[in-house]
Amino acid sequence: MAIPLFDTTTPLEPLRARIEQRVLDVLRKGAYILGPEVAGFEKDFAAHLGAAHAVGVANGTDALTIALRALGVGPGDEVVVPSFTFYASAEAVPPTGARPVFCDIDPGTFCVTPDTVRAALTPRTKAVVTVDLFGNVAPSAEIREATGLPVVEDAAQAAGATRHGAAAGTFGDVATFSFFPSKNLACFGDGGAVVTGDDALAERVRMLRFHGSRDKVTFEDVGYNSRLDEIQAAILREQLPSLAAWAAGRRAAGAYYAEAGLAEVADLPIPVDGADPAWHLFVIRHRHADALAAVLADRGIQTKAYYRVPTHRQPAMAAYANGAVLTGTDEAARTHLAIPMSPVLGREQAEAVVDAIRAADV
Ligand SMILES: *Cc1c(COP(=O)(O)O)cnc(C)c1O
Repeated sequence: MAIPLFDTTTPLEPLRARIEQRVLDVLRKGAYILGPEVAGFEKDFAAHLGAAHAVGVANGTDALTIALRALGVGPGDEVVVPSFTFYASAEAVPPTGARPVFCDIDPGTFCVTPDTVRAALTPRTKAVVTVDLFGNVAPSAEIREATGLPVVEDAAQAAGATRHGAAAGTFGDVATFSFFPSKNLACFGDGGAVVTGDDALAERVRMLRFHGSRDKVTFEDVGYNSRLDEIQAAILREQLPSLAAWAAGRRAAGAYYAEAGLAEVADLPIPVDGADPAWHLFVIRHRHADALAAVLADRGIQTKAYYRVPTHRQPAMAAYANGAVLTGTDEAARTHLAIPMSPVLGREQAEAVVDAIRAADV
C-alpha cells in the first residue's frame, strides 16, 4: 500500500467547484487588492478563532516580521525564538533590526516551555515567539505570565487546534498564520494573517502591511507591501467552514496510529497540557530515524525529517547562534520523523504504517 506523507487534494474535492466559481467571480469583478474578499475573510477568520482582529498579509513570514514591528521590536532588541521550527520563525526577526536568541524545546511536545524561554532571557529581550509546532499548541499564556513579555504565537502549523477550548492563534498578544498550500488552512499560492485582540496593535499591523500608511496619503512609518490578495482570500473563505472537520480528521488519524500500537515501536508526539492538537504533521521520534525512513520508503510509505539541522545550526544564523547549547532541540532534530498525516488518513493506512515500522527491525 503506497501512502503519501500528506494528501492536500482529497479533502478539497467536495469544495473544488465552489472555489473555482469564487475565483471566477473575483476575476469578473476586477478588484484584486484589499477588496471585499479580504475584508470578508478577515472578519470570518477572526470570528472563527474567537479573536477581535485578523489582518491578511502576503505570507506567514511577513506576518511574523510585521507582528514584531507592531509590538515595537527594533534595533538593539532581542527576540527569543525556538531553534526547532521552520526556519522562517527566526528569519523573520533580523528584518526588524532585532536579534533572534535561540531557546530550547521540550522534545516530547516539540514546543517551547516557560523554563526553556526563561533560560534565554536577557535585559534586552523585547518579545518571545512561541511556535505551535506540528499542530500542537505551545503554552503561550504561561510563557507570557512567566516572563511578563509580549508573546507572538506562530500558529502557522496550527489552524484548527485548540487548548482548553480556545483556538490556537488566540494565546499570544498577537498570533501569526501562514496559508501556504501545505498548511492546515491553505490557499492556492502564498498568504498569511496576523491575529490579535488588541485594537491598537491591529491598527499598526494594517498600517505596516500597506507601506506604513493609514490613508495612502501620509506615510508615517517605513512599512511593507504585504497583502493577502482577493483571489486567495476568496479561496480561503470557501474553505474556512471545513477547517474544524479537517482538524477532527487529523485527530482521528492520530488516534488510529495510537490504537494500532505505534507507541510500542516509536515515541508519539505528546499534546501540550490541555491542548487538542490539529496534527499538521504527525512526527514520531525514533533512535534510528533515517534507517527507518529508508525501510518505509522501500514499502511505498513516505516520511520526512523536516528539521534535521535545526535553525541555530543553519549557516545564515551563525551570527546569532552564540554558542547556544540546546539539548532538547538536538535530540528532536536527530530522532524526529514525520509519518503520513492528513484529514483523510484512514484506519487501514495507519495500521499499515505501524505494521511497517514494527517490521522494520532497525
Ligand atoms: C510555514 C511556516 C512559516 C512561514 O510561512 P510562509 O507563509 O511560508 O512564509 C512560519 N512559521 C512556521 C512554524 C511555519 O510552519
